[in-house]
Amino acid sequence: MRKVIYKYALKNALDYGRAEPKAVLGKVLQEKPEFKKNIKELLSLLDEVVKEVNALSPEEVRREIQGFEFVAKKKEKKALPDLPGAEKVVLRFAPNPSGPLHLGHCRAAVLNDEYAKRYSGKLILRFEDTDPARVDPEAYSMVEEDLRWLGVEYHEVVIQSEHLDNYYRYARELLKMGKAYVCTCSPEELRALRSAGKACGCRDKGSEENLEDYSRMFNEFREGEAVVRLKTSLTLPDPTMRDFVIMRISEKPHPRAPGRRVYPLYNFAVAVDDHLMGMTHVLRGKDHLINTRKQEFIYDYFFWPKPKFIHYGLMKVEGLELSTSLMARGIKEGKYRGWEDLRLGTLIALRRRGIRPEAIRRAIIDVGIKSTDISFSWKNLYAYNKELIDRDAKRFFFVPDPRLLIIKDTGGIKEKYIAPSHPERQELGKRELKFEISGDEARTYISGMDYKRLKKGDVIRLMEAFNVQIMEKSDGTAMGMLHSHSLQEARRLRAPLIQWASQVNVEVEMPDGDTIRGYGEAGLAETEVGDVVQFERFGFSRIDKKGDPVVACYTHR
Ligand code: GLU
Repeated sequence: MRKVIYKYALKNALDYGRAEPKAVLGKVLQEKPEFKKNIKELLSLLDEVVKEVNALSPEEVRREIQGFEFVAKKKEKKALPDLPGAEKVVLRFAPNPSGPLHLGHCRAAVLNDEYAKRYSGKLILRFEDTDPARVDPEAYSMVEEDLRWLGVEYHEVVIQSEHLDNYYRYARELLKMGKAYVCTCSPEELRALRSAGKACGCRDKGSEENLEDYSRMFNEFREGEAVVRLKTSLTLPDPTMRDFVIMRISEKPHPRAPGRRVYPLYNFAVAVDDHLMGMTHVLRGKDHLINTRKQEFIYDYFFWPKPKFIHYGLMKVEGLELSTSLMARGIKEGKYRGWEDLRLGTLIALRRRGIRPEAIRRAIIDVGIKSTDISFSWKNLYAYNKELIDRDAKRFFFVPDPRLLIIKDTGGIKEKYIAPSHPERQELGKRELKFEISGDEARTYISGMDYKRLKKGDVIRLMEAFNVQIMEKSDGTAMGMLHSHSLQEARRLRAPLIQWASQVNVEVEMPDGDTIRGYGEAGLAETEVGDVVQFERFGFSRIDKKGDPVVACYTHR
């Protein structure tokens, strides 16, 4: 009984800093319901053991807990619901190539990928690049690289600008059927007529005349002088739905379609492609509801069967910039250093921070496809990510905003102290922590925050080394004396445990754009770019650059 209580008290202390008798009791009874029979004995033991555990240092808790096994909590993995009528599915992920992918895109990418895998279906990556003004030629390969990293497996790549002739053909078809017309009215004229629910003169042209005007769009009309409108109805409650534009002229050169000037608008291109590619389900955000309705007009005119449209709620992502156009502008203006700037919600930036794609996928699956709006949970993402990185992250001391600590009387102070690289995994080896010793002084640095808290006379423990009594504090330098060696003594005196280092210059880039500078322990010089480490009492970080300084990107606590 004692052992079971001890185990859960340790676990509780590890997870929450202190063991709470109630929480421990719950866990104990969950594993051993039969203990209820001896409840008196259980409660008195519980009291004793919890006190004992709460007197341990965090390191001791970590060390003690190693010998115990925990049955993994069966976390109810939130599964996505089945798709309606899904036997053979064809799905697509259809980004605009205006930049690399960001967290907002991940929802459509991951959900479609999950479903394509679940039903052994087909996933098409379709670049929607029929607006030359919004095409970044670099984006195509960036998007593919992001998808590969995310583990999204697509089976075909379609680039809309390579299929402009398809849209021309179907536009001609609609003009012939009398379901569309070439409109040459100015926007002002149109707006006035539109809000009055009135038709413009172009609406009544015969198809001969329309087809002729359509040909002129390819060589005669200039940008803005003529568009093709779909005949919907002029009395639709939403004015944007009334005879909306499906083709237009853009004289801005397209990086992948030189010499072209007539382009389909988004809704027309999407309807044509979703039909031609045999899409069975279209998963998209509620912000596309009006678009879906516009696209349905096109399906109806051609008597095409419709895919199942599924609209999920909006996903709010707080804290990071997610608008591709604002990101691009910020980069151009020098506000952001590039797509990898940690203030941006791009996958490149998340990757650089040490966020794992599996964690993103799990957090996105939790968001799900419900139609209610939802906030993306960073907490969730970080918890998943921590599960993935904690096991392999070596521990290091990092001292932000460093202040010198001089320890007098080096009698008994060693130059080197040995500590485990990981509290639970011996196999990750050991690390050497070093003081700079000269004469009868040992020097190291502690963080500005720890320094500020110190008062003359305090005893602190330099983690993994010894205890120091502070004699004096002035101008950002603390003087101390070796007080004692044992951790027990530090605990008895309630000495704070403090990390210390002096060897390696370290810069940590934070997600808010800040850079935190300080010193790290010697072993940091041996880390490789891409390693995720844990700076004790600071947080996980991914090594981004070697050298002087070592540059790391902050992952999370
Ligand atoms: N290119 C569109 C987007 O990224 C595709 C959305 C859709 O048609 O579902 O928003």
